[in-house]
Amino acid sequence: MPNAASLPLFVRIRQHGRRRAIVDKDGTHSYDALLRDASRVAASLLEDGRRMDLDEERVAFLITPSYCWVSVLWGIWLAGGIAVPLPLGAPAAELEYLLDDTQAEAIIFDEANETIVRSLAATRSLRAHGCANLLTHTETVLPAITPERRAMILYTSGTTSRPKGVVTTHANITAQVATLVAAWEWSADDRILLCLPLHHVHGIINIVSCAMWSGAICEMLPRFDAKTVWERIASGELTLFMAVPTIYLKLIAEWETSPRERQRILSKGAAKLRLMVSGSAALPVGTLKRWKEITGHTLLERYGMTEMGMALSNSYRGQRIPGSVGTPLPGVEVRLVDERGADVPPGIAGEIEVRGDNVFLEYWRKTDATREAFRHGWFRTGDMAVVENGVYRILGRTNIDILKTGGHKVSALEVEEVLRSHPEIAECAVVGIPDPEWGERVAAAVVLKNVAALQLDDLRAWAKEHIAVHKVPSRLLVLDSLPRNSMGKVTKPAIVDMFREAQ
Ligand code: AMP
Repeated sequence: MPNAASLPLFVRIRQHGRRRAIVDKDGTHSYDALLRDASRVAASLLEDGRRMDLDEERVAFLITPSYCWVSVLWGIWLAGGIAVPLPLGAPAAELEYLLDDTQAEAIIFDEANETIVRSLAATRSLRAHGCANLLTHTETVLPAITPERRAMILYTSGTTSRPKGVVTTHANITAQVATLVAAWEWSADDRILLCLPLHHVHGIINIVSCAMWSGAICEMLPRFDAKTVWERIASGELTLFMAVPTIYLKLIAEWETSPRERQRILSKGAAKLRLMVSGSAALPVGTLKRWKEITGHTLLERYGMTEMGMALSNSYRGQRIPGSVGTPLPGVEVRLVDERGADVPPGIAGEIEVRGDNVFLEYWRKTDATREAFRHGWFRTGDMAVVENGVYRILGRTNIDILKTGGHKVSALEVEEVLRSHPEIAECAVVGIPDPEWGERVAAAVVLKNVAALQLDDLRAWAKEHIAVHKVPSRLLVLDSLPRNSMGKVTKPAIVDMFREAQ
């Protein structure tokens, strides 16, 4: 049987040979070097040939985005293991949860993370390896790997419960990558900047894996920094950029505070890219418009999830509709259904269900949760959307963004979009607060621009001019900043707690 190197991703990568693959703080690294070093990592994990196959053993790693990070991911795959990329900077308790939940047997670290990994490993008899040491081994015979084998466990954001491990197979990853490469026309001439963390599908699949599949160059920053990102955009060398809405907000803020001449240079560099993408949370229309004014780019917004990679995308060549996430990607089936699972017609809100090779295998060791996540072979995303003029608009997550107030269903995302057009509101998050009379009350947490305070009565009077009365917030909380997770996503349960405490 062919070994892991015959998986489609590795077949593609071998063809890229001496081309440049990764640029990181240590320099430029070729595809040949990456494959060689991944094979060395595999040899080391296989104890230099004493083991034939890791047999889906979980191997966790806590490594700064870099050449080393990719060598380790691929090395685990080549050795037949399941890769568990851990979030950098997470508290020890969170890392402990991930290591215990996956029952990881080994953990790999880079220099920057050695201390925390060694202490985690010592208390749970885990094998701990330094990345640099793994690269000193010589290559060995690799096991046979079929595409159906488990490849990776990524953890859900866990906005409402403890994070669940999402298991994807090699076939899932191939499907997730192949559809994006086709839809966004990736090629070996592309050069992308990674400034997102690498424990999430956005960075791992949409950026690193698509780049490597295509023979492109991926520049890796250890972490996001607005000045550095702008410098790289201004260089005119990048062709692609992908980020979450909060990153675009930070880049806009950096641009606004730059001197006029620098603004001109930054904008000129940005205009040279061929595509800029936003996703992983709703892109405010105001952010889309401002970015267009600054760079000339209409951000391409797409919708996806850890469990399925990307499902919906605005068009690369056609018109991009602000506030919409476009249509299903090639090879991905999408439908909207009501509570009973029946299709809903255009114009009516329904839950998004998705089917295709891109959809994950299971939640790790959670049989019940896995069973509940599927209906007749369709993955129930837990997100609501509506089709308008042939394109999908996301209304939010059923369990936190769809509020039920006085018999009405209200999309928190819709209310947020309206509130953001208030002259004094910089950012906002809308949640439902349980209420005996109304079921739930619409509650808005806001961050203000210039004024020190905003009165609820004034906000209500303004909002009544812009939205139906049942959508007008009846609770208000002014915050210095919104609570967010490591992907920049607002953590709404924390906001609900804040309203409860303020009561
Ligand atoms: P994650 O698994 O962490 O990537 O989170 C996936 C969730 O992010 C989805 O279930 C949606 O609720 C949300 N999401 C992703 N992309 C978008 C988007 N373009 N607009 C609104 N919500 C999005």
